[in-house]
Amino acid sequence: MASKARGVLIAGNWKMNLGPRGTQEFFSALPKLATAPGLTAAVFPPMLSLQRAVDLAPAHGLQVGAQNVHWENSGAFTGEISGPMLDEIGARWALVGHSERRQYFGETDETVALRTRAALDAGLRVIACIGETKEERDRGETRDVLRRQLERIEAHPNLVLAYEPVWAIGTGLTATPEMAEEGHEFIRSLVDVPVLYGGSCKPDSALGLLEQTHVEGALVGGASLEIESFAAICETAARIRS
Ligand code: PEP
Repeated sequence: MASKARGVLIAGNWKMNLGPRGTQEFFSALPKLATAPGLTAAVFPPMLSLQRAVDLAPAHGLQVGAQNVHWENSGAFTGEISGPMLDEIGARWALVGHSERRQYFGETDETVALRTRAALDAGLRVIACIGETKEERDRGETRDVLRRQLERIEAHPNLVLAYEPVWAIGTGLTATPEMAEEGHEFIRSLVDVPVLYGGSCKPDSALGLLEQTHVEGALVGGASLEIESFAAICETAARIRS
């Protein structure tokens, strides 16, 4: 198993779930989460719930991030939110380039790079998502896709990548630990920053994935909304750290 010298990060992407009331209920029901030196856990609620989460999360040892961030600090960009605004309310992270943003909202490698740069400049920590579709994997293009998605992204001390094979997101199809490790090792050969695995990570698959040498945490979607599952994944990560 890897030494995980840079620690382990468990990030919960709530997607378009849990408004402010649901966020309040989530934290009220959350048990004490396992902790370990070098283990960081964060949640990424919808924008409308961010302030509530920022107020409630620290008592649970959790950090908070946004699911998107614009590349300009302010201006005529209806519907967008900037890095300095997130910083102002106490959000510490921004997620960029999630495959759902690429698929449904026209996100491109170029806009992902712009958002990443701006968020880093605003002092936020960033999780930038990359990953191949099923068709790309079947055509043997996984490495080309990852290389292309990383072309405009440079290493930075506050940058984390998430390898999320698109075919594994929300489908219940988890990459095998070996497949994840192969992807992570390749990504790390291109950019030396921590790489999380994402794609149907559940309590029963978390250990096998997190044990891999180049897997330095997990980006968890569906299971991060199920309190027991999220707590169990944090527990697994804490065990790996200690
Ligand atoms: C995600 O949304 O980043 C994700 C990995 O989702 P899920 O865990 O539900 O596949």
